[in-house]
Amino acid sequence: MYDRIQDTIVAVSSPPGASARGILRLSGSRAVELAGGLFRPHEGPPLSAAPGHTRLFGELSIEAGATLPAEAYVFRGPASYTRQDIVELHTVGSPAILAVLSDRLVAAGARPAEPGEFTARAFLAGAMDLTRVEGVAAVIHAHSDAQLRAARSLLEGRLGRIAAGFRERLSELSAALEAAIDFADEPVDAPLGRDAAAVLEGVERDLRQLLGEAIDAERLDARPRVVLTGPPNAGKSSLLNRLTGQDRAIPSDRAGTTRDVLTAVLALPGGEVVLCDTAGLAEAEAPDDEPARLARQAALACAASADLVVRVADISERPLEALAAMGPTPGGARVLILLNKSDRMPCGAERDALCARAGGALAVSARTGEGLDRLRARLDAVLFREGAEGDARDGLALYARHRRALADATDAVCRAREAIGPDRTEIRDVELVALEVREALRSLSLLLGEVTTEDILGRIFARFCIGK
Ligand code: GDP
Repeated sequence: MYDRIQDTIVAVSSPPGASARGILRLSGSRAVELAGGLFRPHEGPPLSAAPGHTRLFGELSIEAGATLPAEAYVFRGPASYTRQDIVELHTVGSPAILAVLSDRLVAAGARPAEPGEFTARAFLAGAMDLTRVEGVAAVIHAHSDAQLRAARSLLEGRLGRIAAGFRERLSELSAALEAAIDFADEPVDAPLGRDAAAVLEGVERDLRQLLGEAIDAERLDARPRVVLTGPPNAGKSSLLNRLTGQDRAIPSDRAGTTRDVLTAVLALPGGEVVLCDTAGLAEAEAPDDEPARLARQAALACAASADLVVRVADISERPLEALAAMGPTPGGARVLILLNKSDRMPCGAERDALCARAGGALAVSARTGEGLDRLRARLDAVLFREGAEGDARDGLALYARHRRALADATDAVCRAREAIGPDRTEIRDVELVALEVREALRSLSLLLGEVTTEDILGRIFARFCIGK
């Protein structure tokens, strides 16, 4: 798609499926002309005469004699997302109608856009760096508040600006080093060794700090895991079903019927979590009961990887003893305690005291739904508000590609610093230092999706007058 940037592309840009509003987007030199073949404004001149940043009301011709009310938004390049002419046609959100319109535009000469092609054009036109391109994709795929915050920070160019700042500092130095090499027979004006060492030390320190403090974006991508544990028949399967509105687990009166680890996605205000229902971790196992042994192993492994362990006990079946019998939590995950089947104990002082003695347990009922709103709010608070993910609010989230590029830049800066040598008034090996600085710049350019050589040349010539 990168070599066919002159094509006019078209795509449905509203979400898939039926919706109140459907959007077709065109980008390219023929966008206005092709859209104008289908769209007629209610009044005034035709679409082709519309200036940039205009909205026109009118109708779209679907097929001979059939029209639909529509709006056309015209953005003239270069003041547009892709820097090309863009037209958005907004009409009713019927996938069938959008497909017919799209086919007609393709028949008239547009090409169906490939995934990400509008953003690719914005990138190729220099409207955004690669980290912001990644931000666009990350925003589309975010499924939690923390992810969305991280994605928006990328999209808004925060990482791009930070990387550009490092590049700026190193480019200055690179220009000075290249000059020192090119004019090796002339004395160097500034104490280059000391300056270079100071710049490299500063950049290395800041790069290491950034890498140390940034959150792994992949960690945000993974939905937190909430594992339900507790004795058989406490109501774990029923809770999972009731909370997620699914029938993944089959509740049963017979103890020990949930043998596998069942999972279901639960949507909370802060994001989605995976609920896992394990075979009773406290389940007694007969020495020759292989399935029970395997189930217990799977349950233990699942609990060990949990972000939160929810211990469930039957409020009417000696819950304190049941909870005590569960022993310590594997893996040291956070714990929430539920006393289920609250419908079996009237609400009041006795129940409150029991919950308090159970370590601040919540009384819930999978049967009546009592306490489940509080449970959802509690899960949301623990997993998305109080937890480590909360630090994505201010911290920067880095993907593996960013970390690799920044780590490569850090290594190169470190090698450059070491190549200066102990006597900072003189650089032991200017060429080696220059090479490592170029290497660091290359890593930062890779991060931003740019090339740097011309950049460096530009800086050299900006600092010297030819003829001197
Ligand atoms: P698990 O073994 O912990 O997964 O327990 P189940 O979900 O299979 O439930 C065991 C039994 O308790 C089933 O008969 C459920 O209908 C019943 N049960 C589950 N939750 C409640 C509840 O809140 N109140 C009452 N009264 N019964 C419940």
